[in-house]
Amino acid sequence: MVPIQMVDLKRQYAAIKAEVDTAVLEIMNSASFINGKAVGDFSTHLANYLGVQHVIPCANGTDALQIAMMALDLQPGDEVITPSFTYIATTEVMALLRLKPVFVEVDPITFCIDPEAIKKAITPKTKAIVPVHLYGQAAAMESIMSIAKEYKLFVIEDNAQAIGAETAFRDGVTRKTGTIGDIGCTSFFPSKNLGCYGDGGAICTNNTMLADKMKMIANHGQSKRYYHDLVGCNSRLDTIQAAVLDIKLKYLDEYNTARYKAAMYYNEGFKGNQTITTPNISENNTHVFHQYTLVLDGVDRNKLVEELAAENIPAMIYYPVPAHKQKMFSFLHLPETELPVTDWLTERVVSLPIHTELDKGQQDYIIEKVNYLTHKLTS
Ligand SMILES: *Cc1c(COP(=O)(O)O)cnc(C)c1O
Repeated sequence: MVPIQMVDLKRQYAAIKAEVDTAVLEIMNSASFINGKAVGDFSTHLANYLGVQHVIPCANGTDALQIAMMALDLQPGDEVITPSFTYIATTEVMALLRLKPVFVEVDPITFCIDPEAIKKAITPKTKAIVPVHLYGQAAAMESIMSIAKEYKLFVIEDNAQAIGAETAFRDGVTRKTGTIGDIGCTSFFPSKNLGCYGDGGAICTNNTMLADKMKMIANHGQSKRYYHDLVGCNSRLDTIQAAVLDIKLKYLDEYNTARYKAAMYYNEGFKGNQTITTPNISENNTHVFHQYTLVLDGVDRNKLVEELAAENIPAMIYYPVPAHKQKMFSFLHLPETELPVTDWLTERVVSLPIHTELDKGQQDYIIEKVNYLTHKLTS
């Protein structure tokens, strides 16, 4: 059996090596490292794939979120409603811009922001909602968009984990995540569903004014060279990374299908295990399984991770500490923030290996060990 990894990027590269090597060497020979042709090509292809008008490539997913928030002219002290159960990047940029993250609950079944909790958190200072499509499934975007419309709030989607996922709306229209709100932000970190060989990110929007502004912000606030109209930053996608992404984009649906199939195989293998809740897919969503995450009931989680590691099975906790309990947010004085569902989940979730190269032999082995150990470690 091939050693099991959370993500097996080496084997994925081996399958596309010839294509990637040719493209990368071409860029090396042309020395067109910054804003080379591949950057524009990839942006166009990604826009077509997602069904969105504008894609602005940038240096990473965290920058994408920051640039989006800068473009909306949010002011220090403005409130932004967001889940606490997410990767820190989502909320870190709010702190950097001196915005006030207002952490709300997630749905215990989908792990994504709870629309009812959003409504309760709205104040006259609320300016935006940042839903996160956690683990690869869309948040409840239909409800979120209608709340945003009613209260005139911006919606920035954190789509770092869900590229390629879709959500169906009641009017029959299906949209890809990251193209539903005012702005969608994504990451091409190597382990993401569409990952490059270093850092990368992109911002999507159907709003041409916002697109122009975000292009400027990502490029030192200039629309014309050496004329800086806005305070911006330096956030570019390297040509080499764009070339890699342009190749991998062609396989994204295939990659996502492989992840989905692996997830279904796990689900089947854990059927009847009373200590495990397998991931749920809402009726109107597809799921691209950036993570395959179980909720444990009555199992000593640390012991489980430890004993799986002893069997050469990596397992990860995404995320052990929710944002509202991170020290970096102590300046917000949040002791009264109570998020019982978030706390409950952060104590019980565990993610198993899932990637495009995971094979049945590996999965059978993982399923057998997880079923055996959860039974053994049940209190
Ligand atoms: C990965 C990730 C980001 C940040 O992306 P980087 O490219 O690493 O900066 C933001 N939000 C979520 C939910 C992520 O998973």
